[in-house]
Order: sequence, then C-alpha cells, then structure tokens
Amino acid sequence: MAKHHAFRTDIKGLISLFSQLSGQGYSQIGPLVRDGAIMLGEIQSFDDLAQGYTDEQAQGHYRIKPIPNKGLFQYAVGPQSFKQYLHPPRRKLWSTNGTNQNFTVETGDKPQKMVFWGVRSCDLEAIKILDRVFLEGAFVNKWYQQAREQLLIIAASCPLPSANCFCTSTHTGPKPESGFDLGVHEISGNNGIYYLIETGSQKGEKLIKKLQLQWASAEELESMERMIEKAASSMKKRFEPTEAAELLKKTLEHKYWDEVGNRCLSCANCTMVCPTCFCTSTEDITDITGEHSERWLRWDSCFNGDFSYIQGGKVRGSTPARYRQWMTHKLSYWYHQFGTSGCVGCGRCVTWCPVGIDITEGLEELAR
Ligand code: SF4
Ligand code: SF4
Repeated sequence: MAKHHAFRTDIKGLISLFSQLSGQGYSQIGPLVRDGAIMLGEIQSFDDLAQGYTDEQAQGHYRIKPIPNKGLFQYAVGPQSFKQYLHPPRRKLWSTNGTNQNFTVETGDKPQKMVFWGVRSCDLEAIKILDRVFLEGAFVNKWYQQAREQLLIIAASCPLPSANCFCTSTHTGPKPESGFDLGVHEISGNNGIYYLIETGSQKGEKLIKKLQLQWASAEELESMERMIEKAASSMKKRFEPTEAAELLKKTLEHKYWDEVGNRCLSCANCTMVCPTCFCTSTEDITDITGEHSERWLRWDSCFNGDFSYIQGGKVRGSTPARYRQWMTHKLSYWYHQFGTSGCVGCGRCVTWCPVGIDITEGLEELAR
C-alpha cells in the first residue's frame, strides 16, 4: 500500500461513513451476532455490528466469546459468506399467471443497492472468482451482474485469523489488496482502537473526502504492517496450490478417497459454507389450478446424490466419489475452467464439517 494513501480515524469516522451510506439509499450488510455465531445481516444502525467478540475455530468446532477489546473485526470468518447476497440460496427466476390462451410472465425481484461491511480478503478473492464464473464465461448471469454493478465493498484486514485459516497458502490474505472501495485496518494502540482506511476506487475516494480525515502517520502505518505480519505468521496450515493441483491429478485412485469417503456424511455443509461453490438446480412449482407457476433457482451441491443424476443413474453414486469430485474440482480442475484455484483458504469447510474433515490434512496424506 502506498503510505500516503491511508487515512486515520477512530470509530466516529466509521459511524459517519455508515450515516453517509444510509443517506444514499444503500442496504448495509455486515457481521452481527446471531444464533451464537458471527453471521451476516442487514444492519439498521451501526451498533448492530458485532463488536467486542472473537471466535475459536478448530476442525468441526466453532465458538464466539466476548473480549475486553471492543474492536469490530477481532474474529475470523463466520459460517456465512457474502456469496449469499450476490448469488442467493433461493431466488425466483420467473412466474406465470393465466391459462394457455392468455397468460403473463413476470421476472423475479431485482437486486438491491448494497454495501458490504468487513469483507475479509479471502471473501474478496472469492467474489473475484464468482465474477469469473458469472460474468466472464459464455453466459452472463444478469442478476449477479446488476447486484455487482451497484455494490460497494468495505473490506477489513484480519488481525486474528482462526486456526483453520490458510489464506497465506492460497495467496489470498490476510490483507485485502484489491477489489474493494474502502479497505479498513483495525489497530489496537496504547490509547485504544483506531482505524486506517485506504481507498480502492473513485467511489471510495468520494466517500472518504466527505469524512475529512487526517493522513495516517508513519508509526501508524508501521503498526498496521506489524499487525498484518503477525496475523500472517499465526497461520499454521500450509500447502502450495499449484503443487496441490498436480498432486490431485496423480492420486485419483489413492486409497485416501475411500477412507475419507467413509467418514464423510455427504451432508453438503462444506459446499454450502464455501464462498466459491456456485452450483444450482432449478425447481418448478405450480398451484392446484395450474394457472400460477413459478421457477426457482436454488443452491445445490455435488454431495447431493441427485446432483449427478442423468438418464439411467447417478454418475457419482458413492460418497468417496463425491468427496473426490469436490476436492479435485476445487483444488485442481478449477484451474482449467477458471484459471485459478477454487479455494481461497477461508477454512469454513474445515470448521463446519460435522466430522472435522480437513482438506489441508487430505493434501498432506496424499503427498505422503
Ligand atoms: S474449499 Fe474450504 S477453505 Fe477453500 S474456499 Fe471453500 S470453504 Fe474456504
Ligand atoms: S466433507 Fe464434511 S461437510 Fe462436506 S459433505 Fe462430507 S461430512 Fe459434510
């Protein structure tokens, strides 16, 4: 980051930013505490944001706990990612009313003008992957495109990655580098918490101008660099993505797939929490008169038996086959399709797997 591009503020600057965005008609989405987790939701007031919490994550384990530090970003990613606002779990594509002779067709709802608060660098990179999938292929997803065009992103660096994070391996964090309008760094100083803000777009620059903030000092910028280095060095899970991609191509018949497949419940949790999984199915429904019908798009998963059903049967009938499909697609074949890995190192699939299956351990086992 160019040093002269960071501004300094205390929490009041962020509160003013929130008010400014409310006045511009944005629906503001951010992390809040719900159901014993850091979830995402619409924040009506700045106080709704999760504040004074950290989290504890391990394989198949997640807990939040209050901490004396009243920071806004002292936890790693929760179970939900911002994917659900750009690519909703369930969305009406269209509905029809009437009879064969006379009917009308209506398309589903349009996306709202949104701002995302506190997008961590892994999730920011995941949005770039979704951009490739939905905007840069042969078919453009118009709903996603509209949502993206109206979106404002306030990113946040991670002071405290979880034990399951491995963004240093996937080269996707812990500092947001690009793809945001504003990037916020929360620093715990001797005199309390302060924030350094960098701009990443013209929209971001306009917003910052109105806040009339001071430049950050050289010491404050150094504190930020130290905080990022400390976060990066705290991550213990490691692998090299391009080596992993090659390794997986050579180990398709390894006995590991049967071992892990016997533990896997095929519950699809890992794909639901993953910020880059994008597979869907469509379902059609109609009322009893047949005069009203709807088509819905909904998330699906390669772990669901029917997902690979084609006429005559399922292509991947067993759990080991489904697990292998998921991991090899995500970490290897994704390169052929989209030019990158499909994994951004957020660790969610490890935390939210009910039997604690860990893809980084799988790679270690295959490498051995
Ligand atoms: S595969 Fe796991 S660690 Fe990688 S992006 Fe998906 S949920 Fe995160
Ligand atoms: S790997 Fe874990 S989360 Fe994924 S389907 Fe299997 S049991 Fe469920």
